[in-house]
Amino acid sequence: MEGADDPATDFPLANLPMGVIAGEGRGLRIGVRIGAFIVDCRTLVESGLLAARLDQKITDALSDRSLNAYMALGQSAWRLTRAELTRLLSSETSDLRDHPSRKSIMLPEWGMTAKVPCEIGDYTDFYASVHHATNVGSMFRPDNPLLPNWKHLPIGYHGRSSSMVPSGTQIVRPNGQTVTQDDGPPTFGPTRLLDYEMEVGALIGTGNPIGEPISVNQAMDRVFGLVLLNDWSARDIQKWEYQPLGPFVAKNFASTLSGWVVSLDALEPYRIPLPARPSSDPQPLPYLRWSEDYVLDINLEVLISSAAMRTAGSAPTRISLGNYRDMYWSIAQMIAHHTSGGCNLRTGDLLASGTVSGPTEESRGCLLERTWRGTKPIQLGDGTERKFLQDGDEVIMRAWCQRSGLPRIGFGECRGVIMPAKKL
Ligand code: MN
Repeated sequence: MEGADDPATDFPLANLPMGVIAGEGRGLRIGVRIGAFIVDCRTLVESGLLAARLDQKITDALSDRSLNAYMALGQSAWRLTRAELTRLLSSETSDLRDHPSRKSIMLPEWGMTAKVPCEIGDYTDFYASVHHATNVGSMFRPDNPLLPNWKHLPIGYHGRSSSMVPSGTQIVRPNGQTVTQDDGPPTFGPTRLLDYEMEVGALIGTGNPIGEPISVNQAMDRVFGLVLLNDWSARDIQKWEYQPLGPFVAKNFASTLSGWVVSLDALEPYRIPLPARPSSDPQPLPYLRWSEDYVLDINLEVLISSAAMRTAGSAPTRISLGNYRDMYWSIAQMIAHHTSGGCNLRTGDLLASGTVSGPTEESRGCLLERTWRGTKPIQLGDGTERKFLQDGDEVIMRAWCQRSGLPRIGFGECRGVIMPAKKL
């Protein structure tokens, strides 16, 4: 398949991420990305090529305008479909390669737009990186960076799904209350401390009935796949509002999602056993312990280009390079804890990791940490400095897995340009 063998592509045959696409007058379709092409699943189903090996409930779901019905079918259906798509898209098989409808099944990606990949249900954002939590905690509470609960449970808050937007959507700088002194009074106006947060999101495929928690050892079977997420954050608004109930208007104005959902089966070669905790740390309680628990070796990159840099045609500047393997809490632990009191997860729910930061300065996943609250500005390729984001800045997030002997697989991009605040 064209482009699928390119060693630099995010989308070789080993990946096959799914999303929802529109373009070329087709309306919304489920798509599977391979190389520089997207498989239009509805047209593929109509061609009859899937009928021999996949039953009708799967092909019906693949013909839908949204991924949710397919996600709800569960892991065995996802695996059957993946195996069949792998067979059809392999260059050795002729069924699709020589099919008369091939050109209307395999669409060049440049003509299509990837949307938010499913109808997002409830959204929960965690705080699962010990490096991020310690860095942020030490800025606000130098003597007591990690609160006593942090190493006992994956901290999270319930966010909004209504403001989830696809990669490429412009982000309007939010207005809100900010203070110059800790105890106020506030003024209302555009945030001056606009930030990004580099995160990995897990999309729930199959949920649980209310009152029936998901055990930690079964949690990963419920995950349809992973996406990149930029949890845009207004730090000055956040600082004034976050106590006592957590972030609110500082984060609910927009979060950007990448368009392609990478399956756990594609990521399987990149599992790393969840590291044993140092003896100085508390061990997790039994309901959060799974002997096969793992993190994933995913490189996470953040770049910024100013409006001037894009006008000049110069490349964006890399701001950070981190790795998802540095997380303290696993996705399985997040799911087990989330449902431990009986909360039901549903198809399309999104559980995000929180900012992914590692032990080095370069691996810090937001500007608050990267510039240490603005005290150590970073330099862009056009010679200007950034403490926080300016209007016209574009934030680009990328993620990929790479190991010798294996094809590189990637997540594509999660992008957004900052637009000026609305006039008051
Ligand atoms: Mn966040």
